[in-house]
Amino acid sequence: MEPSDAVRLKVELQSQGVRLAIEDAKGRVGGAGPAEGITLFFEELIATVPACAAFVSASPFTLEERGAATVLVRDGSELCRVEVAAPPAYYSRKAGGVAMEKIALRHGRDCIGSTVAQSCARAEPCLFCGISLSRKAGATIARKSPGDLGEVAAAAWDEGFSQAVLTTGTTDLEECGIPLLVSCSEAVKRSTGGGMEVHVQFEPPEDLALIDRAASSADSAAINLECFDEDTLARVAPGKAALGPDRYRAAWGRAVEAMGEGQVACFIIVGLGEPAASVLEGCHLLTSLGVFPYVLPLRPIPGTPMGSCAPPSASYMLSTYEAAAGIIESSGLSRKGVLAAGCVRCGACSAITDIL
Ligand code: SF4
Repeated sequence: MEPSDAVRLKVELQSQGVRLAIEDAKGRVGGAGPAEGITLFFEELIATVPACAAFVSASPFTLEERGAATVLVRDGSELCRVEVAAPPAYYSRKAGGVAMEKIALRHGRDCIGSTVAQSCARAEPCLFCGISLSRKAGATIARKSPGDLGEVAAAAWDEGFSQAVLTTGTTDLEECGIPLLVSCSEAVKRSTGGGMEVHVQFEPPEDLALIDRAASSADSAAINLECFDEDTLARVAPGKAALGPDRYRAAWGRAVEAMGEGQVACFIIVGLGEPAASVLEGCHLLTSLGVFPYVLPLRPIPGTPMGSCAPPSASYMLSTYEAAAGIIESSGLSRKGVLAAGCVRCGACSAITDIL
């Protein structure tokens, strides 16, 4: 399908970022979406948009206040009104003596997100990952207790949030942090009367039965191998490369068996230095296994080894999205009915579901 002007704008924003000319928005940077960005609503779309990384200083886009409205401006010309995702009311409350904002953040429209264990055991971390940065900055705590997370989920549920994305650092290479994820997932379900849908993200465990445990409480999962080119993966994510593709394949297969076709996703990051063909090869492989390829542009996080990189151009992303969408469509994995919860349902960090 030909992308609309609004979708093109979203893709451009995610490639170039937005400069913030309003103080209120500055205060909300990092309060939603991935580690670096601001969440905007416009023209019925939602987008997390880079706002702090070095490349953003060259962006033609600014966010400005004009009268009572917040507007997106390109090279001085007003494009459209936008809404900046507001901090939820639960941010002002505490659970277990900890500010709820440090336990789970607003993600997108109706989602809360939490990294239940904010550390990584790998000797060589992935170059694009900022998992330790928010902990060092005091914006979160190292480990979330299931009980406290359940309290936050209940408060968020009362405010209208309907899904939770729970991820974890790779705390160990055997269980991959899944037991804590399961306890947190169960707590979210319990505290919301089973109402809040839960998505869990983890690395492929040695014992595949752990995936069945995850499926017993969570509705969907992501097992992310962000790059499908062996050499690039070895350079940017040596720990993932060392696990080997067979371990990912086995985990995707088991997760699809346990959660159902279309309830499992895998991020593919575009812009890590990979050959273009590898992104589409990854889409073919994943869809053949019933896994949704969540294609998205690199989001360079200041302070990480890739923090001074820039995302791919909008024209490159658009052509990649269109080719990926064609593969997803012809595989039968369509947007409708895919992933009860998680990034594919949220859609803020990628335009793939806008283009499908
Ligand atoms: S797409 Fe995923 S990471 Fe991005 S804001 Fe939505 S839930 Fe968070």
